Formats: sequence, structure tokens, C-alpha cells
Amino acid sequence: MNNLKYDEIKIRENSMDGECHDKEFVVVNPTRMCQPMGAVQAMMGLKNVMPLIHGSQGCATYMRFQLIRHFREPIEVASTSLNEKTVIYGGEMNLLKALKNISEKQNPEMIGVMSSCLTETIGDDVEGIIRKFEDVNIGEDLPAMVSIPTPSYAGSHVEGYDKAILSLVEYFARKSVPNNKINIILGNLSPSNVVEIKEMMNDLNVGSILLTDTSENLDAPLSEETLELHKFGTSLEELEDTANSNATISVTKHNDSGAKYLEKIFDVKAISGLMPVGLRNTDIFINNVCNAMGIDIPDKIIRDRGRLSDVLVDAHAYNYRRKVAIFGDVDMVIAMARFTYEMGMIPKIFCVGSESSRFKEDLNELDEDMGYKPIALENKDLHDFEKVLEDNPVDIIIGNSYGASIADKFRIPLFRVGFPIFDRIGAQRISFIGYNGGINFVDAITNMILDFYYDEEGYKVENKELSFDPQGFDEFLLES
Ligand code: SF4
Repeated sequence: MNNLKYDEIKIRENSMDGECHDKEFVVVNPTRMCQPMGAVQAMMGLKNVMPLIHGSQGCATYMRFQLIRHFREPIEVASTSLNEKTVIYGGEMNLLKALKNISEKQNPEMIGVMSSCLTETIGDDVEGIIRKFEDVNIGEDLPAMVSIPTPSYAGSHVEGYDKAILSLVEYFARKSVPNNKINIILGNLSPSNVVEIKEMMNDLNVGSILLTDTSENLDAPLSEETLELHKFGTSLEELEDTANSNATISVTKHNDSGAKYLEKIFDVKAISGLMPVGLRNTDIFINNVCNAMGIDIPDKIIRDRGRLSDVLVDAHAYNYRRKVAIFGDVDMVIAMARFTYEMGMIPKIFCVGSESSRFKEDLNELDEDMGYKPIALENKDLHDFEKVLEDNPVDIIIGNSYGASIADKFRIPLFRVGFPIFDRIGAQRISFIGYNGGINFVDAITNMILDFYYDEEGYKVENKELSFDPQGFDEFLLES
């Protein structure tokens, strides 16, 4: 289907009251993934756990396919394999069978049962079926079974991750003795970004419980072992211990439901932060940890911060006033926007696949700090993003692999972050979190700009000057 057709379909609806309503009938290249996908990613950071999708075979296959081509690791996601018959009569028998098979054959410590669009629509009582299975097998050594409701029509992978963490702490957290640790809810971060968080906690000399720790499981050494349950990651004992920590910091605002639950039930302070990307946001993260633990910022952290400041200065000449368009998850987009602004760039266009009041608040705060309003596309897709780019040229796009054809069309570079990245290797090693991740990011994006817009002597290549003109920038400010 060509662009014209899409435009015709993506029309507004004239309702009976004669008003023009902003309803779109099709999404073309969404900037979001499905809800159980986020929950499965949370499961990937747990030790000895099996994720089970209660839905059709295709749902689990789609998730395995996306996860494997992004992380390039073997991924196990079980399915209850619903078919036409179960759509009519319900999926109870399939779920009971799947729980039995997994318990007997794989013997995990926990099975995370994610619902899907189909089972939510037909109304299967997943929680009730799990309890029925436990009642029938009373006295057996069964794994823990956690139900995670993830209807994809009611949210994206971001909400899926959030619901998984909430379900885990609801099921496991138990008050015992204070552990003097910080719980950290990570969201869909790359294994390398998780490592950056772990290293910062190490440098701060603060014990932590990561929800959840994918750093080893999704960036594993080559092995000749057959595919089996993950041996690393957050343990169920650690999940239980989350009720005894000093605080819970969620590093993305849209993944803080578990933190709020722990605060409400166990009085564990909840801190919902901005993603620690760039100077300001990482400063906030470090201060939050130090305040929660009553400690001073160590010299090592101060030196790392100084090195990031130094890199920002070194790279400034190449990045100054380069216009950027960013698409992806809400928290990642807003964090990248602020960081590129710190780099001297002009974050000009943002596109996210959902609508959120917290995104709006963060955006307003950013607008005030920058002194202009970028173009913000909320609840939009990459087709809308592309249309906006036609009239608003930028120098670089930041987003996942689905932006490659758009970048090609406008002959600008795509800096790959987010999920999924399938047309490059090393997605699990992309890091931008914290001061050291920030250094990696500034180096990589500046080198991409140097490659694309400068010759080997470091002089600008004039015919590649797409949008760098101070005059245009002033016009942009006036327009906004
Ligand atoms: S049917 Fe729903 S749950 Fe299954 S893959 Fe599609 S969006 Fe995800």
C-alpha cells in the first residue's frame, strides 16, 4: 500500500453530531510493541523461571522471534497454543496442561503466566485456573505460579513490564528484617545499561535488588549447553526481600506500579525517577540513592561525572545545533531529548506510540528549560513521524531499526537505540545509562555525525548540510 492509501485510511471520523473526531483507523509501523512482550522481558531477568503466554501459538512465536533477533540469544517462551475450538470453549484445559508439562519437564521455580489479547477477550480466569491447578495437585512440589494480566489492546510493552513487576512483588514480597538495600525497577533496558546501573551501585557501595537483572541472561557467553532455564538474574528470594529495602527507585516513570505497591503495603519509600541518561537525570538518580541511604557521593562518581562533562565539551563543535528526531518508548524519548539538548543539539521532533500525562509533564518541563516547543507526536506511528519529517528536516534520527527506511529516504543517519534492533549486531551492548553510558553514547553519536557530515580532515561536507543553519533555527523558534 502506498503512502496515499495510508493517508486516505488514516482519516478523521465525522460522527453523527457533525463534529470531526480524531480517530484513526489504522496504525502503520507502530512505535510500540505488545503488552506481554514487556512482561516476557521482565521474566528474562529472573533466575530459573519460565514465561508462559496464555494465547495462540503465534503470540509466543512473535515474541521469541523479536527477542532472539534483538538479543541474539536463545529465548524460551512457552505457549498454551489456543486454537479455534478453545476460542469458543475457553482455554482452561490448555492452560492446565501447559502448567503440568512445564512443572514436570522443566521444573522451574516459577511460571509467569501472561494473558494475551485472545484470552482477555474470551474472558479466561487465569488466576482461577492457576488456583484450580494448585488445588488439584495439592501436596506436590509445584513451582510458584504468577498470573500477569497483559491484554495488548490496553497498553504497550511498557505497561507489560510494569504489570509483571507489580505482579511479582504482590506475589513474593514479605516483610522480615531490614536489608539496607535499594530496589531498582529497570524497565526494558539493554543488558549493558543494566550493567551501568550495577556499576553505579557498586561505586556507591550500596546493595541493590534489581527488578529484573537481564545483564547475564541476555548477553551470555557462547555455550554448547542445550536451551534451558536462565541460571542468572534476580532470584525469588530477592523478590521476597524487596519488602525490606530502604527505597524503590524506578528508573522509568512508567514502570513504578511495583514501587507504589511496596510503599503502600510495606512502607518502602517509592521514588519514580527520570531515566538516568545524561548529566541532569543521572545527577537526580545519584542524589536519590544517596538521600535514601544517607551517604555522600563518592569521588569515583564525581570523577565519572567530570569525564562525561569533558566529553560533552569535546564533542560540542560537531553536535552544536544539529537537529534531532527521536521515536520510541515514552521514558526513553524524553531522556534522550534532554541528553541531546545537553549536548548542544536541537531535539526537534518526538514520536511516541502512547499518550501519558507523565510524558506531557516531562515534556512541559523540558520545553521550559529549552525555551522552545518541539513537535511532539503522541499516540502516533512511524507513518505520522515520516510525514512530519517531510516538512521539518533534521540531521539525525534516534530510534529502533524500524526507523531505518525513513532515515534512508531522507538520507540522514539513524542512531539505533531501543527495541527492537535487528539490522545491526550488539543491541545488548548499547549503553547510555549513567555517566559512563553517557560517554559511550556521546562518542558513538558524535562519530556517526562526523562520518556522515564531515570529511576525513574534519571539515563539513557542504552537500550533506541538510538542516544546520542558524537562520532556520531562529525561524523554528519563532514558529514554536
Ligand atoms: S495477538 Fe495480542 S498478545 Fe498476541 S502478539 Fe498480537 S498483540 Fe501481542
